[in-house]
Amino acid sequence: MTVRPLAEADFAAEAPVLVVGGGACGLIAALAVRDAGCEVVVLERDAALSGSTALSSGFIPACDTRFQASAGIEDPVDLMAADIQRKNGGQADSAIVEAVCRRSGRTIDWLAERWGLPFVLLDGFLYPGHSVRRMHAHPERTGAALMGALLNAAEGAGVDIVGNARVSALYAGTDGRISGVRIERPDGGGEDLGCRALVLACNGYGGDPAMVRRHIPEMADALYFGHAGNRGDAVRWGEALGGEAVHMTAYQGHGSVAHPHGVLITWALMMEGGIQVNREGRRFSDEHHGYSEQAVSVLAQPDGIAFNLYDQRLHDLGLGFDDYRAADKAGAVRRFESLDALASALDLPMAALAETVEHAARCARGETTDPFGRDFTGQPELQPPYYAVRVTGALFHTQGGLRIDATARVLRRDGTALPNLFAGGGAACGVSGSQVWGYLSGNGLLTATTLGHIAGEQAARLAAKA
Ligand SMILES: Cc1cc2nc3c(=O)[nH]c(=O)nc-3n(C[C@H](O)[C@H](O)[C@H](O)COP(=O)(O)OP(=O)(O)OC[C@H]3O[C@@H](n4cnc5c(N)ncnc54)[C@H](O)[C@@H]3O)c2cc1C
Repeated sequence: MTVRPLAEADFAAEAPVLVVGGGACGLIAALAVRDAGCEVVVLERDAALSGSTALSSGFIPACDTRFQASAGIEDPVDLMAADIQRKNGGQADSAIVEAVCRRSGRTIDWLAERWGLPFVLLDGFLYPGHSVRRMHAHPERTGAALMGALLNAAEGAGVDIVGNARVSALYAGTDGRISGVRIERPDGGGEDLGCRALVLACNGYGGDPAMVRRHIPEMADALYFGHAGNRGDAVRWGEALGGEAVHMTAYQGHGSVAHPHGVLITWALMMEGGIQVNREGRRFSDEHHGYSEQAVSVLAQPDGIAFNLYDQRLHDLGLGFDDYRAADKAGAVRRFESLDALASALDLPMAALAETVEHAARCARGETTDPFGRDFTGQPELQPPYYAVRVTGALFHTQGGLRIDATARVLRRDGTALPNLFAGGGAACGVSGSQVWGYLSGNGLLTATTLGHIAGEQAARLAAKA
């Protein structure tokens, strides 16, 4: 049973605030609890912390930050909120969008100033749908480095982190108040731990094949690139408590995972002039719409395969990314002196490929327009030597989740808040609307970081009153 009656609990100890899941959302929530001077325990099913956060590129969108100010970039809350809502067709709850955008800059600045996290503002290109540069990253530009920095900060702040602690059930009263959780250990043992407030930071359901098949059947057989331990527990608990799971058909896909190497190829290559062609040597979409929905477009091509095609200038840009360097090292990135050589090595029809590349060049020169609607102007034509990577589409993480209010409290179906339950990151409904095309670059870590921050503050406040 996912939610058990209080009478069955045998609490070995109590913490004012418990956090389920030790990814970005969980650790940031815990830092916020410690900032409020309150004790907190993070319960993580894995022995060592990773989550999807460590697997990610670690790029966090935020507006009105001091890093943007130093670069002379103006990015008011309204601009970021409008970008997010434009991408999802206005489907996301505007109060949540406003809350996360408003909080985004404060969270980045607070992580930097209060907890010493190093950040850089990414430059060189704009992510699809971003009006200005707002992607912040650890200087190493990896999710693993972001997680490492968060973990150092959490340990320094006195956050109690317990690994090998899978939360298997919540204990709740008839009013929905959470009194604690059941923890299962890998050796079959377990214990009950009490709390005054609980934060669900255990992400979505990408690691539960049955849930993926039910909610997003088009990705049921696709590669899942996120953390396997994210099995939809938050949704199951929230629903059992009378909460509501919304936009469950939403997710972040990615249309550029090197195949069969399984390494992410940065979308910056497409944004700055690269194209994707199928086995027939033809383009099949506007690559600038977004990498998330491109997963579906790529999987719809013959054999579910596409080829990223670009040149030396873009290869040099790619080398600035850890994943790209790994793909290059693994042999996924191939260089060809001419288009002929590329077509013959990759078994692509030369005539069609030459026509495709020439058409893109004519679009870049402003001589014709792209039937898919992409604006090629302002970017140089592709030049030999050419580079190519064979890619496929993948599921990165789910975006549907528990309905919350702007203070990260989990809501019942009637709109009232459960007494002491909070959710953030992939455990809560995101800001991408209901479809794959609604995902704006960075929506994942945006809600993980900001809602973690908000949930931690609110949980600490509640625990102090209880
Ligand atoms: C390859 C890749 C690249 C990405 N790049 C970006 C990017 O650059 N920018 C961006 O915004 N987003 C990106 N994302 C999405 C981003 O990684 C997620 O949105 C974000 O990490 C979610 O954070 P989280 O804290 O909610 O979840 P996670 O980091 O997944 O943490 C959840 C934790 O909960 C634990 N857990 C689950 N169930 C339980 C349980 N019952 N008991 C105890 N512990 C439990 C899990 O083991 C896990 O450690 C990317 C995703 C992938 C896969």
